[in-house]
Parts: sequence; structure tokens; C-alpha cells
Amino acid sequence: MDLATVLLLHKSSFFIGALCFLYVRWQSPRSHGLGVLAIAFLLLAIASTVAGLGEKRALPLYAWALSSFALGTFGYAVFWIGIRRLSSRKKRPFDWLATALPMLLTATAVITGFHLDNLFRGSVFQFNSILFLSASAVALVHDTRHEKLSARYALAASIVVAAILSLFIILGLVAWKAIHPRDAFFLLILCHFAIALFTLVFVKERAEATLTKLLDTDALTQIHNRRWFFSQLPAAPRAGDAFIIIDIDHFKRVNDTFGHAAGDAVLASVAQKMAENLRKSEIFARLGGEEFGIYLPAASDLEPRFVAEKLRNAIQFLDVRSGETDIPVTISAGIAIAGDGLQMNELMSVADIALYSAKNLGRNRVELHPSSPSSANVAAARHSMSLSRAKNTGRAA
Ligand code: GH3
Ligand code: MG
Ligand code: MG
Repeated sequence: MDLATVLLLHKSSFFIGALCFLYVRWQSPRSHGLGVLAIAFLLLAIASTVAGLGEKRALPLYAWALSSFALGTFGYAVFWIGIRRLSSRKKRPFDWLATALPMLLTATAVITGFHLDNLFRGSVFQFNSILFLSASAVALVHDTRHEKLSARYALAASIVVAAILSLFIILGLVAWKAIHPRDAFFLLILCHFAIALFTLVFVKERAEATLTKLLDTDALTQIHNRRWFFSQLPAAPRAGDAFIIIDIDHFKRVNDTFGHAAGDAVLASVAQKMAENLRKSEIFARLGGEEFGIYLPAASDLEPRFVAEKLRNAIQFLDVRSGETDIPVTISAGIAIAGDGLQMNELMSVADIALYSAKNLGRNRVELHPSSPSSANVAAARHSMSLSRAKNTGRAA
């Protein structure tokens, strides 16, 4: 491929990249930074076109050299702003101060005329590109702390390769020709396509992660929901697995006394407090209403009771207020530990029976089902609970 074709492809790669950013922006209106990235690539495309015309002597040197230099250096600064916005999802108005550097360089070019010297103009241009490209890659990797997406690394890597190529172009201009300029431009074209492609992948990966989070999260309490909880459980419990069901005591009274909004606030505070007191490995979710579930795989004998007591304690000292008034909140918990050959719904029924005992025995307490349940005694336990329900018209206060 001759240099003219490579240069044509070079500017086309910016145009195609800009179109790609605009398309993704149109498809995902909530995305961040894509409009700015499209502007950056358009500026770079125009700069590359003007430089191409200049190389063909279609424009006088003073006109094309300065305008392509100004547009190109400005384009890389805008690219950095776009990547920061895409990466962090934050608009940072102060980022626009970065455009002071290309403005300063352009002003210096106007005063000193250094842009009329190919070597000088090329070196300063590539230095500016390396600076903003490297800063863009750093921003992408740095934000992994807040949001892990594998596309971050692919996008950062394409940008780093572009920065390295720019470095080779400077070296080629001033001292050592490690790579032929035509090959460097050809590889840069591939980088521009890679940047556009991985930006697309980035936006798609982020959208999927957001959807999955929404699907698995309870909107009121911001902890996991029932759907997620059941997706984490084994098909059948293994002997030694424990299930704890937790229910807020007299929650209807909270709603009736303080209002539904205060009830919602209590639910959210209770859920957050419990989440704080549990380990990541403990499967915990809001199962519905004012009920929560915890699944402990291969729990030791004392562990389920220890976990439930820790939560009961934490909640009874939880400070929730409605105006100046304290809202008293307690929880009761029922625990079942699986024996051999048990179905999941049987284990849960047994925990429910234990919860029912906790309510009957006065609430704000933890009850463990007396035996490790097996299929045989689940039926007996269910039978005794229905008898006891028939005797009591409601749960004892
Ligand atoms: P017990 O101690 O026996 O569990 O009594 P309780 O009042 O907590 O139980 P009951 O099942 O009688 O009432 C549960 C209440 O929880 C009724 C329902 O309105 C309320 N509730 C369920 N989901 C929500 C919610 O998302 N927000 C609010 N504010 N209330 C809810
Ligand atoms: Mg309930
Ligand atoms: Mg309740």
C-alpha cells in the first residue's frame, strides 16, 4: 500500500470511528462521553484531511500546517475528555481546561512559526498525542476500582498501542527509524478501529452489567432479591447446609403507627444493617415483604445460630426514627439445618416452622428446629404446625 492510500485510510478511520460513536450514542442515549469522543474523532479526521491536502500541495503551507496542527492537538485533548467521561460516567467541566495545552501550543506556533518546520511540528504534535492518549489509558484502568469491566483493558491497550506508535513516529522524525512512517500510519488506522470497536464493547458490557444488577437487586432495600437468592442455591441442600428465615416483628404496626413511608425506611435500614453484619460468602436476600433469607452452605453446628443471634442483636439496637420518635424494631429468626435426602422446599418449610415457634415464644428471638430435618420428619413437623395454627387464631403478641 502506498503512503497516499494509507493517509486516505487514516482520515477515513477517524470518520468511521466518529460515526460509530454517534451510532452508539443514538442507540444508548444514557451513555456517557460518546458525543465528546465523536467530536474528537471528527476534529482528528478534519485535521488529517487538511494535512493530506497540504501534502498534495493543494493548500499553502502556512494555511494547512497551522490548521491541521491546531485541530489535531485540540482533537486529542477532547479525546481524553471523552474517555474520562465514558470511563467515570461523570461530567467534569474542569477537564475542558486540558484544551489550554493545545491552545498554548497553537499560540506558540503562531508567534514563533515553529509549525512551518515539519520536524518540529510533527514532534510537538506527537508529544501532545502521547500525553493525552496515555492519560486516557490511565483513566480507564484507574476507574476499574469503581467498575470492573474487561472491555476497559482492551480499550486501554488499543490506546496505549496508539501512544507507542506516536512515540515511534517522533523517534523516526528526530533520530531512529524503528518503523517506516507508512507502516506506523497503517498500524494507527488499526488502532482507531480497535478504539471504536472496544468503545462499543465497553458500552454494551456496561449496559449488561447494569441490567443484571437491576435484575438481581431489590429496589427498596438495595440488597439482593428473591430471584437472585434462588439462583444461588444448590438444586438440593447438602447435609449440613443451613437456611435461616428472618422476619421483622409486628411490622404491620410500624406501618399503621408511623405510615408506609416510615415502614419502607425501616425495611431499608434493617436490610442494610444485616448486610453489614454478614460476610460476602453468606447468601442473603430479601425474599419478599418483611422477610429475609440466609443460606449457609456446609455450616458448622453453631454457626447458623451465631449468625442469626448477631443479626438479632444488631437490629434491636438499630436507631430508626420517625421525626423525634424512636421506631422500635426487632426481628425473629427460624433456622433449619439439612439432613440427608432433603428437598430445598422441605428445608425452607422447616425453617418456617422454627420461625413460627420464635414468634409464638415472644418474638425478638432465634429458634433452631430441634432435629436436623430429613424428609420423614418434615411432614410430621408440618402437621404439628397446622394443628397449632388451628388452635391459635393469630400469632401470640
Ligand atoms: P409478625 O411479628 O407476626 O411477623 O407481624 P407482622 O405485622 O410483621 O406480620 P404481618 O404479616 O401481619 O404484616 C406484614 C406487613 O408488612 C404487612 C405489609 O403491609 C407490610 N409490608 C410488606 N412489604 C412492605 C413494604 O415493601 N413496605 C412497607 N412499608 N410495608 C410492607
Ligand atoms: Mg412476614
Ligand atoms: Mg413480620
